[in-house]
Amino acid sequence: MARERLVVIGGVAAGLSAASQARRLNRWMDIRVYEKGPDVSYSACGLPYFVEGLVPDADSLRVHSPEFFRTEREIDVLTNHEAVEISTSRRRVTVVTPGGRAPEDIPYDHLVIATGAEPAWPEIQGLGLGGVFHVNDLQSTLALKRYLDSGSVRQAVIIGGGYIGLEMAEALKTSDRAVTLLEHSPHLFEAVDQQILEMIQQELGRHSVEVFTGARVMSLAGDEPRGNKGSVRRVHSEQGSFEADCVVLATGVRPRVRLAEEAGITLGTDGAIAVNDYMETNIAGALAAGDCADTLNLVSGRRTYVPLGTTANKQGRVAGENAAGGRTRFPGIVGTAVVKVFSLEVGRTGLSQKQAQEAGYRIAEAAVRAPARARYLGGQDIIVKLVADRSTGRLLGAQMAGPEGVAKRIDVLATALHARLTAEQVYQLDLSYAPPFSTVWDPILIAVRQLLRELKR
Ligand code: FAD
Repeated sequence: MARERLVVIGGVAAGLSAASQARRLNRWMDIRVYEKGPDVSYSACGLPYFVEGLVPDADSLRVHSPEFFRTEREIDVLTNHEAVEISTSRRRVTVVTPGGRAPEDIPYDHLVIATGAEPAWPEIQGLGLGGVFHVNDLQSTLALKRYLDSGSVRQAVIIGGGYIGLEMAEALKTSDRAVTLLEHSPHLFEAVDQQILEMIQQELGRHSVEVFTGARVMSLAGDEPRGNKGSVRRVHSEQGSFEADCVVLATGVRPRVRLAEEAGITLGTDGAIAVNDYMETNIAGALAAGDCADTLNLVSGRRTYVPLGTTANKQGRVAGENAAGGRTRFPGIVGTAVVKVFSLEVGRTGLSQKQAQEAGYRIAEAAVRAPARARYLGGQDIIVKLVADRSTGRLLGAQMAGPEGVAKRIDVLATALHARLTAEQVYQLDLSYAPPFSTVWDPILIAVRQLLRELKR
């Protein structure tokens, strides 16, 4: 009897989580992963730290090799193999193989689409100039690192002030290199509110990163008079022109869905593949996971698109399990994220003030500053911002920033959001205390106390 076959398209977080979980459940299945690039199973999240030099070599970011998957998990991981067409009626994927051989038609019983996201570049003239990079994949980041290591970069410009732009500001800044961050919208890092934003801006200022908001970039100019030739020298934006001998594009991503769309698979929020809790698409036998798929925001109850590694791994695992005959769910996310900006930890979960208002809630909010641990042991202040629903008292979102004790504290509030706790219930939480770790009233509880007062107004 022919073995059932699972074909996975995409060989990073979601794709390899799917393949590995399918193998754990089903020893007999034929599992193949097709990856169009040369790299599989690496931590994209570690790329800024590789650029900064905190990760000494790129190989440390690689988790497993194709060889590991073949020998340890009996999964065929084929690099430089691009899936160019899916026929869902014939259950076949057409794959272009290296060396100019004829495309192969690969039959499948189950398909997991894990094609990730692609950089969303705005219309900017001159993107083809030398010295212009993105950090959305390993190869482009390696090229950026080589360019920086050549020692000629004195003036770097980052386009885009989301979390990757912020991480890159830290990664690129050195004592002899100036960094300018240009953001087209009026605010950096849209996912957080004003109080948190101010702390981020102060931290960037403390490290001499120049920030310009409302600075839509129109074109890049090179050292040769015409077109896309030579190396970048200037960035022209609505806020003026800036010198640059290196430009990093951090303008966000969009789901990579052309293949799925052409196969008749329905797209959902923000153009991502529409999936249900089982990671199934509208077509039988075809599942999708990771940065190419949408998900449910458990706080607002609306479908959303939040491309993050933590979600990609979990969705991949669920897709793999269901492709192998299981029946498990990925219920959704609450929108938790952390980012390090120099010495500042920034965390957010749930809905920001703006997102909560857009979702139709009448909100109460509170923001407090309190030490992350006992002051007599050197504890420094963090900001905790909370948002709640006035009509039910339910917590809707939280944000924090400070030099310590933020990154993991935000997870307490993410848990509260999953449990749909009210502010009163959060206030009753038995949180740990010892002077090196907290204060007797944890900053979370001080913020909730303030929030409860606001809810009574
Ligand atoms: P990808 O990692 O994009 O993998 C998809 C793969 O599919 C790609 O290798 C692609 O080549 C391949 N592919 C596409 N089309 C085809 C085709 N037709 N045929 C064959 N192969 C194909 N997330 C966090 O949670 N925390 C962080 O701190 C964090 N930091 C990040 C920092 C950076 C610089 C970047 C770029 C991302 C970061 N992320 C972070 C996001 C995280 O890396 C992604 O969410 C995660 O990699 C998504 O995994 P994925 O498998 O869905 O997609």
